Amino acid sequence: MKIASHLKSLDYSVVQQCMHCGLCLPTCPTYDATKLERNSPRGRIALMRAIADDRLDVTKAFGEEMYFCLGCLACQTACPAGVNYAELFEHARAEIEEQRILANPKRNFIRGFTVRWLFMDLRRLELLGKALRLYQQLGLQALVRRSGILNVLPKRLRELEAMTPRVCDKFSAELIAPVTPAVGEKRFRVAMLTGCAQDLTFSDVNRDTVEVLATNGCEVITPPDQSCCGSLHAHNGEWSLGQQLARRNIDQFPPDQFDAIITNAGGCGSHLKHYAKLLVDDPAYFKRAELWDAKVKDIHEWLAQIKIRNPKSETPSPTVVTYHESCHLTHGQKVVSQPREILRVIPGLKLIELPEASWCCGSAGIYNLTQPEMAGQLLDRKLKHIKSTGAKVVATGNPGCLLQLITGAKQQGLELRAVHPITLLAEAYRAERAG
Ligand code: SF4
Ligand code: SF4
Repeated sequence: MKIASHLKSLDYSVVQQCMHCGLCLPTCPTYDATKLERNSPRGRIALMRAIADDRLDVTKAFGEEMYFCLGCLACQTACPAGVNYAELFEHARAEIEEQRILANPKRNFIRGFTVRWLFMDLRRLELLGKALRLYQQLGLQALVRRSGILNVLPKRLRELEAMTPRVCDKFSAELIAPVTPAVGEKRFRVAMLTGCAQDLTFSDVNRDTVEVLATNGCEVITPPDQSCCGSLHAHNGEWSLGQQLARRNIDQFPPDQFDAIITNAGGCGSHLKHYAKLLVDDPAYFKRAELWDAKVKDIHEWLAQIKIRNPKSETPSPTVVTYHESCHLTHGQKVVSQPREILRVIPGLKLIELPEASWCCGSAGIYNLTQPEMAGQLLDRKLKHIKSTGAKVVATGNPGCLLQLITGAKQQGLELRAVHPITLLAEAYRAERAG
């Protein structure tokens, strides 16, 4: 296991690939906001290379810079040299965490509780979700908000409280059977990953995904007890925890037993497809991890691959829809056209292109919690573009983006439905069955 220096032990061909052309700069949201070289991909890569070359120490300023980066990977799409920014970025954050350069008691507590404890066993997260659900269902949250008691909290805590998502009435295991048979002829056997935050806040999207898969001839295996994919851990420098979770998922879903391993969360999929890189030094898992990477499919990608049956009835939702691209679906997985293709086969749905559709909405994992100012600016920019389309529905394939857009619409009092594209497809199939 690499404990020493992540950046120094990284394949040097990755570290030295940047040719400083600057073509990535206009695509970088943080550079766009500040116009400072150090806030650009080129500037960050130069810092990472300086550390790998032993010309620079891992300093607090470097740590803060790497956490100011959204990890949106827009620079990776723009780069003509094929720089693997995702790999550099994850190793840089792992280096920062291992050298404890940003450590302080508050940060250690928050990370210890969330990343190292809560998300390492989803039964704990589910328990917390159930408590929060009860708090919301009993009307206590509304009561506390109305009472004004929250005004005694510091501003940041009040902002965080306002962002608390609505917990679903039922979690995935309560909505989805462990095995869902294919409707009609069985063409494929697939596993479905229900996710962590997705399960608590968008279990209905998981149910819709399973329904759509079954409608298209897939037998779907959805075990009730699943693990986090580990993207939260890998993107936040917890390399060995990310490895642990990757091994757990490979054990639970042996890739040779499925035609595909399906995820409907853009951020998770982008990470799930790179388990082999995470387990490259693990001879017991590496080969299986390579097969796993090949089998992981984003739901839109899989449906395009197997050629879906077009629904015949119109969706009951408003018909004008715009589409926001999740960064990790677009830049991380290069799944760009497939969600649009799915939306276009829904009868009666008119898709209007969103200006700057692939510009980050500010969600970026937990970026909206750690960098609220920058995240807020990006959210305002996104909502301004959505409003310019006139659409009352925005579709997007990632739970983080959905939450961010829902929060933004609520804050601005907008009449806007943020929805996963697969939900619109599932609604069209249901309308067909009902009609
Ligand atoms: S990942 Fe996004 S924010 Fe970070 S350097 Fe690349 S474009 Fe900029
Ligand atoms: S990361 Fe790519 S696009 Fe950006 S400066 Fe380096 S080579 Fe050019």
